[in-house]
Amino acid sequence: MTPKRIEDIIRPDIWDIKQYIPIEPPEVLGRTRGISPERIIKLDGNENPYGCSPRVGEALARHRGYHFYPDPGQQELRKALENYVGLDASYIIAGSGSDELIDLLLRAVIGPGDKVIDCPPTFGMYRFSTLVCGGRVVDVPRDDEYHILPDRVLEAVDDGTKMIFLASPNNPTGAPLPLEIVPQLLKTGILVVLDEAYYEFSGKTMAHEVPRHENLIVLRTFSKWAGLAGLRVGYGIMQEAISRHLWKIKPPYNVNVSAQVAVQETLADVPYLMANIEKVIAERERMSQALGDLGFLKPYPSEANFVFCQVLRGRGVEIRDALRERGIFVRYFDTPLTHDALRISVGRPEDTDVLLEALREIGKGLS
Ligand code: PMP
Repeated sequence: MTPKRIEDIIRPDIWDIKQYIPIEPPEVLGRTRGISPERIIKLDGNENPYGCSPRVGEALARHRGYHFYPDPGQQELRKALENYVGLDASYIIAGSGSDELIDLLLRAVIGPGDKVIDCPPTFGMYRFSTLVCGGRVVDVPRDDEYHILPDRVLEAVDDGTKMIFLASPNNPTGAPLPLEIVPQLLKTGILVVLDEAYYEFSGKTMAHEVPRHENLIVLRTFSKWAGLAGLRVGYGIMQEAISRHLWKIKPPYNVNVSAQVAVQETLADVPYLMANIEKVIAERERMSQALGDLGFLKPYPSEANFVFCQVLRGRGVEIRDALRERGIFVRYFDTPLTHDALRISVGRPEDTDVLLEALREIGKGLS
């Protein structure tokens, strides 16, 4: 039947999906507000304030193969990761950011109406990509301090449940995942996706357990610790029983040449990047303490590169907007589970100083 309006050709469930609200780069943030991009203090995207390894830019300038398609099998990239991950390359598949791996996994597994367990507040792409794939999201909210409730999760699993997503540590709250709950979840037989996007800041991983559990999948990214968010590269660690299906359905050239070159340089410069991670961790602790001292924010303990704060006085949106006017960008949350909250990425010490100065000023006007 010919649709009355061309838009009627769109799936009814896609009509109902709300757009994911992404962050924007400094040029866009600056252009819309008349601020030059260099003046922007960008603490809204959990990006690396120290950038990537200097080896990346040099290697990209030297590289001569941009007119060839990238390796669809990502062989050198995966080989380079073996040592870092501690597992054979056969366990590894890379994507255009870990976002793409979330989507690929769901596309491979979820049929209409299949259930995916989500533990909000958490990373929004789990819900979003599940809905795009026609799945159903079963929410098992965290407790008041944003800890997972493993018994509730187990109760929520039924015959229609295919997967659970657990960010370790969690975004936006920074809370670590108690890894001792994972074996119980694995016993259910559903796919347990541990998203270790912030692994390098927490030091906790279950990647070494993947060879023992065919339903355990670990996701990681180069966006945060390695400062490569703009090149879009992440990877999944899983057994071949799952990955061979992802290899079939992935877009063939999903990880571009620049990203593949950049990963190799990154992995050849790990001590440099780890030194920057140490700086970020130290700054996280200093910032968290100072935010708490302001009196109108309640920072939560974080094992990632950001700090989640409940707003105790004034409104989070007011504070976010007042910061924006000063060229400082943070992420604002206002859902029934987050209440009124800000997530502030850790910057360089000088960024924190400007942020704190601005917040002290803003704080005077809050009631
Ligand atoms: N997982 C979590 C928990 C994240 O916070 C993010 C980035 N915001 C991602 C995955 C996606 O990372 P990538 O840039 O690799 O797509």
